[in-house]
Amino acid sequence: MPTLENVEMLAIAAEGKSIAKVNEKALFVPFTVPGDVVDVKVTKSRAAFMEGKALRFEKYSDMRIEPKCEHFGTCGGCKWQMLDYAEQLKAKQQQVQDHLQRLGDFDFPELLPILASDQQYHYRNKMEFTFSNRIWLTEYSKEMDFNDRNMNGLGFHMPGMFDRILDIENCYLQAEPSNQIRLSVRAYAHEHEISFYNQREQVGYLRNLLIRSSSTGDLMVILVVGYEDTEILNGILNHIAEQFPQITSLMYVVNEKKNTIITDLPIQLFKGLPYLMEEMEGVKFKVGPVSFYQTNSQQAYKMYRLAREYAGLTGEELVYDLYTGTGTIANFVARQAKKVVGVEYVPEAIEDAKVNSELNQIDNTVFYAGDMAKVLDEGFIEKNGRPDVVITDPPRAGMHEKVVKQLIKAAPKRIVYISCNPATQARDITWMKDYYKVTKVQPLDMFPQTHHVENIVLLERI
Ligand code: SAH
Repeated sequence: MPTLENVEMLAIAAEGKSIAKVNEKALFVPFTVPGDVVDVKVTKSRAAFMEGKALRFEKYSDMRIEPKCEHFGTCGGCKWQMLDYAEQLKAKQQQVQDHLQRLGDFDFPELLPILASDQQYHYRNKMEFTFSNRIWLTEYSKEMDFNDRNMNGLGFHMPGMFDRILDIENCYLQAEPSNQIRLSVRAYAHEHEISFYNQREQVGYLRNLLIRSSSTGDLMVILVVGYEDTEILNGILNHIAEQFPQITSLMYVVNEKKNTIITDLPIQLFKGLPYLMEEMEGVKFKVGPVSFYQTNSQQAYKMYRLAREYAGLTGEELVYDLYTGTGTIANFVARQAKKVVGVEYVPEAIEDAKVNSELNQIDNTVFYAGDMAKVLDEGFIEKNGRPDVVITDPPRAGMHEKVVKQLIKAAPKRIVYISCNPATQARDITWMKDYYKVTKVQPLDMFPQTHHVENIVLLERI
């Protein structure tokens, strides 16, 4: 593949890359920003576009700031750290505008200015780290003597590599004691020569470390190990418990399977409580070790408040909360509605949703588990009543066409569409354009330092 010299990056494109034009062809390069002039090694060449890797910067864009993190450029995490936060927000706002305009076919009002995250770092309440005996060497050289090196590390998967881990010294995404816990566990493991997992050969003891925190001050740590060994396990868990008395929930999982999924395995309690608590406006949420909860709690609260405001609730409405997860939105709006019906396909999440209603003495919610495209039919709507308002928060793939058609039939006055992917949102809204008009578009930043953007759209029945 050729190397292209002196390529000037022109604009921010999707997936956190920037775009240049070379011989009339689009070239996408990660870790660059508009204004950078780079020598690029082409890594992929198709009829319509190319992708490449920046080998050398001839000139750095004025837009750049010094990335905060020592792992920037190697880690797959915070790809936009070289952009000032104001520039990140501008790019996200533009991305929503472009997606709705280019991928959608409907009228919409001027976008409201994107809601920034108050915390630009340390905003995540959940991190998962992976142990590996094959760390990625950032200073690799052919002369290196690998027998001398400890190749064990604890950190994040290298982008595109299933078995290589970037050993992390410091991560800015979760507040302390997140780093302290990770480093302490790593040091203990090194000192006691406990084996780190090898994904290729499927051997080794230490596999994953999950750290979850909550706005109420709870702290959950889950250690995932590859096989039963009570002695090693007690040693390491006691170490964690002693070093970090603020942990309110210390758990472990023995995962002897090839894959890293733990939702189908027993999660054992070592110390404390088997859940943590979240709270919004006095509504409490019990969050189990594998329960979903929005990862930026402060922004989630803003998003839910907006969704509730757009829903225009007076206390008389029948609300459907589609893709309800653990029923957080349903329970959050329940006191302002007559009744809320939540639907979600993970049965355990639905159990959490019910527990959370009970916990808050909310008795006007009902929850159903099942695939939206199958559950949401005429019979369901007859049984539960025609919704006045629908709040929908689908995954990145958006809604199934059947779901959209059913929504049109159900004919709620308002649909509040929360999306983490404005591209599929644009498609879904286009399907509804003869029946609903877009009256509000509000982008929101849940994930500073990344290219991800959320968008809330209010649709009103024509
Ligand atoms: N509104 C929730 C989060 C929603 S995330 C909150 O704020 O906490 C999207 C949810 O959609 C996930 O919980 C996922 O399990 C669910 N989901 C994905 N595909 C689905 C489908 N086909 N049918 C029903 N639920 C689905």
